[in-house]
Amino acid sequence: AVSAWAKVPQGPPVSITEAYKADSNPEKINLGVGAYRDDKGKPFVLPSVRAAEKKVVESTLDKEYAGITGVPTFTKAAALLAYGPDSAPIKEDRVAITQSISGTGALRIGGAFLERFYPGAKTIYIPTPSWANHNAVFKDSGLKVEKYRYYNKDTIGLDFDGMVADIKAMPKGSIILLHACAHNPTGVDPTEEQWVAIAEAVKEGDHYPFFDMAYQGFASGDTNKDAFALRHFIKEGLRPCLSQSFAKNMGLYGERVGAFSVVCESGEEKKRVDSQIKILVRPLYSNPPIHGARIASEILNDPALNKQWLGEVKDMADRIITMRALLKENLEKLGSKHDWSHITSQIGMFAYTGLKAEQMDVLAKEHSVYATKDGRISVAGITTGNVKRLAEAIYKVTG
Ligand code: PMP
Repeated sequence: AVSAWAKVPQGPPVSITEAYKADSNPEKINLGVGAYRDDKGKPFVLPSVRAAEKKVVESTLDKEYAGITGVPTFTKAAALLAYGPDSAPIKEDRVAITQSISGTGALRIGGAFLERFYPGAKTIYIPTPSWANHNAVFKDSGLKVEKYRYYNKDTIGLDFDGMVADIKAMPKGSIILLHACAHNPTGVDPTEEQWVAIAEAVKEGDHYPFFDMAYQGFASGDTNKDAFALRHFIKEGLRPCLSQSFAKNMGLYGERVGAFSVVCESGEEKKRVDSQIKILVRPLYSNPPIHGARIASEILNDPALNKQWLGEVKDMADRIITMRALLKENLEKLGSKHDWSHITSQIGMFAYTGLKAEQMDVLAKEHSVYATKDGRISVAGITTGNVKRLAEAIYKVTG
């Protein structure tokens, strides 16, 4: 018999790690990974995570299923971290929240919830460019995906006027996805004044804001500062939904710890939304994994561990900020005539260098420097040991 899969086409590769792995140059540099590395280029487990994990293990909890919406001590604390202790919706108990399979899972639950219940057009507007997975997640959730202007490649900065104009031109009541902080892939964020204007445009259009917050604390080193946009929208009376990831800010990547929440109008509405989230999640994966959520819960709820963690988040953010400065400094020392100020003005894990696909190819083939073709480099992959060689490679490629 003919195989059922005889007509399945070969898909394109989803990651660049393969080429990096195949390179035998001992000085090869991997700037493609979206994970924090220490100054030796090694994966980093936060000491607060180790301590929390020890507490979890020593408490000899059982391994029974969590409820459909996960570990309640975790979700409660996650909501507090995002919305803040003074948040009206939190105080009034009108935020529906569920644990999720990290940020990606949260986006997918959100996509599915909007597809099922959003009363307006089931179209979501995402920035140009956006994290590549946004398009796929929302399309697979059954939403139509459209774009709004975000990045200006001439200034290597925010196309603020284009963004606001596009928001104003969207049909009334459109769904708009916003990166809460540390925009991926560009590292370009609106300023607080710009966020105020964006909130106004969203409100004017009666649009529905969906915040993706994958880097809270990782951008500025301050979890409150990084939550500015989300909290400002709420102060303005908007009722967004939110995807949270603890992959980056707690370094819990493979533990898949996240949350999806919906700010509701009332406690009664929250109950109805909550009941439907459960109905959505049940056939997807029944209930989420517990180990990572227990770790995150310890960190968020134990005051001493919390303080330690906030210090460690700041250390990671600071190392990245230092590497940005070092890369720029090294390029200038080499005599590069280009303006590299965007490297230090951008924020978060990634720098959008402005290098073209051909230049990225040369970086890989001739200098063993690997990153995505759009010119995005992971600043977390830069160390005091490789920054000089990296700057030389970039200088050679850009002249
Ligand atoms: N959103 C954005 C913008 C991201 O950059 C990422 C991670 N690369 C995620 C969501 C989700 O990641 P995870 O599923 O690992 O939490």
